[in-house]
Amino acid sequence: MFWDKEMETLGGRALEDLQVKRLRQTIRQAENVPFFKDLLKEKSVSAEDINKIQDVSRLPFTTKKDLQKGYPFGFMAVPKKEIVRIHTTSGTTGKPTVVGYTRNDLDNWSELIARNLTMVGLTDEDTFQNAVNYGLFTGGLGFHYGAEKVGMTVIPSGTGNTKRQIEMIDDFGVTAVHCTPSYAMHLAEVAEEMGTTLDTFKTGLFGAEPWSDNTRRTLEQKLGVTAFDSYGMSEMYGPGAAFECPERNGLHFWHDSFLIEIIDPETEEILGPGECGELVVTPLVKEAMPLIRYRTGDITCILDDECPCGRGPRIARITGRSDDMLVIRGINVFPSQIEHVLRTLPEVGDQFMVYVDRINHLDEMAIDIEIKKEFFSGELKDLERIQKKIIHALRDTLNLRTKVNLVEHESLPRFEGKAKRVVDRRGDVI
Ligand code: ADP
Ligand code: ZN
Repeated sequence: MFWDKEMETLGGRALEDLQVKRLRQTIRQAENVPFFKDLLKEKSVSAEDINKIQDVSRLPFTTKKDLQKGYPFGFMAVPKKEIVRIHTTSGTTGKPTVVGYTRNDLDNWSELIARNLTMVGLTDEDTFQNAVNYGLFTGGLGFHYGAEKVGMTVIPSGTGNTKRQIEMIDDFGVTAVHCTPSYAMHLAEVAEEMGTTLDTFKTGLFGAEPWSDNTRRTLEQKLGVTAFDSYGMSEMYGPGAAFECPERNGLHFWHDSFLIEIIDPETEEILGPGECGELVVTPLVKEAMPLIRYRTGDITCILDDECPCGRGPRIARITGRSDDMLVIRGINVFPSQIEHVLRTLPEVGDQFMVYVDRINHLDEMAIDIEIKKEFFSGELKDLERIQKKIIHALRDTLNLRTKVNLVEHESLPRFEGKAKRVVDRRGDVI
């Protein structure tokens, strides 16, 4: 199903012409920001130099650090009175970035969310529980207005009070939920304890943090939903920049609104389709906070084979952020890989925590892992067998020996928003 078929399926020359036109407008808009004005002057490049889409490579990159230096309003390209809303990033990697929106920005954003929801088959017949934080985090209000636009019955439940959330799902006949995959895991756990089967549920929209395909299978089975991946970031309005279609084989980016590139994070060289690297995004219609070649830090690749749904090129699911990557004794490890391995093991429960230390100049990774109730009551030798099994499974995939501590069900933290499962103590004096 399409919300805006013309834009969603626009391709070839027509799309390029639109992107070039919008890229030029974006550069002009960005010149209202002293940082971009100076940078573009220094690089001797202006909107007039963009004649084809490949000319984007003449433009300089913008980084998260640049945005942090502009805190709070240094990157706004319109007068304050035109800004009708403020959000901030979650601040996962340092000081949060402030993002401003004009009325047009908010309209465009909710249009994109409406496209996503319609793409996965949701309509005005659906009842939608938005179980994310409704504060400065973009996932709350962002999804809310998009879902209202589609005409869904929206329940702005926010996070927390999980038992009540489960009751609402049953009482109100909720058909679709949006939350982080971490919170979805917790919802599933509490629903199981309460003995409800969430019969009306059919669609789960999960995003804002990396989650593996094995987690998808677990969530689908526990919640009885078809689960879709939602990607976005505050700098690109918020969630909704890219989303899975019913094929669930990569996420469609909305190419009329964002120009995407993949670069080698070290050399900044532009990589071709299928090559993994850092995603760089230039939003094409933003007014309050235009950005040029924004280095997202997120690792993915472009899939340009045709999707049967008729929409444009997709990106692969995000492996993680380049700064999430742990380098343990020279080996690169993404927390999402650990999660992927753990979810294949039937004895492992829902939660784990990773600790990294430097002991006698050597990096050591230790993982606390919750074991399902039925396996924890066993004898010591059974637990040792499970522990060995986990260590082997991790070593096979990560090429790394890790220390594994088995802990009881419900002894590790649960997360309502984005999970923080890695504690890197290598900088600490122990
Ligand atoms: P912060 O960068 O402070 O966490 P945001 O709340 O804007 O602020 O989060 C955006 C980031 O969240 C993205 O850059 C990405 O790293 C992560 N993210 C969002 N959606 C997904 C997803 N579906 N898969 C993996 N990571 C995601
Ligand atoms: Zn598709």
